[in-house]
Amino acid sequence: MFKCIKTTTTQNKNSVNLYQSPHTTGKKVLIIAGTHGDEPQGTDILSLYIKENITCKNNLYIIPCVNPDGYEQKLRTNSNNVDLNRNFPTENWELTEKNEFFGGNSPSSEIETQFLVEIITEIKPDIILTIHAPFKIVNYDGPAENISKQIAKIIDYPVQHDIGYPTPGSFGTYCGLEKNIPTITLELGEDEAFNWQKDRCYKILELLANQY
Ligand SMILES: [Zn+2]
Repeated sequence: MFKCIKTTTTQNKNSVNLYQSPHTTGKKVLIIAGTHGDEPQGTDILSLYIKENITCKNNLYIIPCVNPDGYEQKLRTNSNNVDLNRNFPTENWELTEKNEFFGGNSPSSEIETQFLVEIITEIKPDIILTIHAPFKIVNYDGPAENISKQIAKIIDYPVQHDIGYPTPGSFGTYCGLEKNIPTITLELGEDEAFNWQKDRCYKILELLANQY
């Protein structure tokens, strides 16, 4: 069982929770999901995983749902219509049009972004996994090529270093490119059976928990 060690409250009074594994030494692994509320797969899997009695050699930190307001309403953005994956305080953050990729009125303007920035500053993770959908790829930022290949092998997706479009203010740019933390973005599919995805993700988590 994981233990909730930190929490914040969103605009719509939902909680964003950070959980830690019972084992608290070894490499610090941060795993997050639900940055986009219309991509529930990762949140549903991590919500089950934190209830498991796992054995691990590393120190696992998990946020099953970064954007609970979006999750509740099946929306990409949070309740301020901000795409949290464009709201990080990166050098390339920019004020954009108010569409579904709107990065906020200023970098790190959102509670959810502030919570993550604080956690990353405090914990200083050795590696980060963030789960999205629906592209069926393993994307990475920072020095994560090797581990991305191992993850890709488990889930049988291709490794794709460049996602093919600019993502100013993204989590990957903030952690991977600017802080040099190996940051892997796992993009699950939308048409895969839940148990298949859960099984593959558990194997990936096992890799990060014990073999990284
Ligand atoms: Zn996404």
